[in-house]
Amino acid sequence: MQLPPEVPLLAQLPPDWPAPEALGFGQYLGPYLVECQHRAEGGWGAPCLTPRAASPLPVASGATQYGLSVFEGLKAYRDASDGIHLFRAPEHAQRLQRSAERLHLPVPPQALILQLCRLAVQVHADYVPPHGRGSLYLRPTLFAEEECLGLRPAMRHRLSIVVTPCGDPLPKSVRLWAEPELIRAAPGGLGAAKTGANYAAGIGGLLRAKERGYDDVAWLDAATHTQLGEAGTMNLFVQIGDEVFTPPLDGTILAGITRDCVMTLLAERGIACHERVLTLAALTQAGTEGTLGSAFGTGTAARIARITAIGDGQREIRFRETGLIESVHAALKRAQETPGDGGRAWCDTVEP
Ligand code: PMP
Repeated sequence: MQLPPEVPLLAQLPPDWPAPEALGFGQYLGPYLVECQHRAEGGWGAPCLTPRAASPLPVASGATQYGLSVFEGLKAYRDASDGIHLFRAPEHAQRLQRSAERLHLPVPPQALILQLCRLAVQVHADYVPPHGRGSLYLRPTLFAEEECLGLRPAMRHRLSIVVTPCGDPLPKSVRLWAEPELIRAAPGGLGAAKTGANYAAGIGGLLRAKERGYDDVAWLDAATHTQLGEAGTMNLFVQIGDEVFTPPLDGTILAGITRDCVMTLLAERGIACHERVLTLAALTQAGTEGTLGSAFGTGTAARIARITAIGDGQREIRFRETGLIESVHAALKRAQETPGDGGRAWCDTVEP
């Protein structure tokens, strides 16, 4: 494919790869968008490359006005032999399809999503950090680009992938604020879709958490404000006794791919993991009885984050260090960076 002339990066990649902590997340954006347009008459067009800086989105588009936009977040890693693979790309493609269906956007075929992801990695191969030093994060985004000031499904959409190298540092520790008033998602709403509206609903809670000295939000259910949902933009896991619990996928929670990996990895280690409603009261009681162990959040960007405490202004639930987080993190890191690890088919090689 003929590449358009190189456009300046948002920020130039330093000549040597920064340490994972310094690389962080979203600091350097890849110069190209790998894209495909969709027209109501004519369907999906051919994949193309667009300089990122040259991509216009009209103010009056369905995406800008009504949030008619969904996205994904997945990663490409270098293995020990310097080959590059995508991690659980088909599952991310399927979730993008489900999100698109929920918002009545055109559903891209899985083969097209995967083709664009592979192309985005090939074009940005120089942006994939060395083995063990991080990953290339891909953000496929599907949005209504047609200008239209009335609410209706659009006639013109675009599926576009932007990439950023990121550091995959060791698990950070977070304290969560159990938000008593604002909610992220409600039954029948958009919580299970990966769409900007959920993050717009969540940003107020994040700011309120930070005002109170916490790092992120422990989202509670809309009806009773007693049941835990997600940990900021991560899925939540809590260890009680010898078992691990995570809230069930009730339509208000994103079905995290990392959540699914962790459930598999725990099962492989003989640790029972149950999808169960978790209330603040049950965690408080487990704390009192001395059975409360570790808690952590899972997500593609953060991998694993240690939750040290959840507070709601009246009580502070403190979790313990039991070694579980270290072993889950090590197993996940190995699965992500090593194609064929454990006989699992989670990695798809990207040809150079
Ligand atoms: N919940 C929310 C709200 C998220 O944004 C994310 C990150 N995509 C997750 C959970 C974790 O999902 P995944 O493991 O697929 O990244």
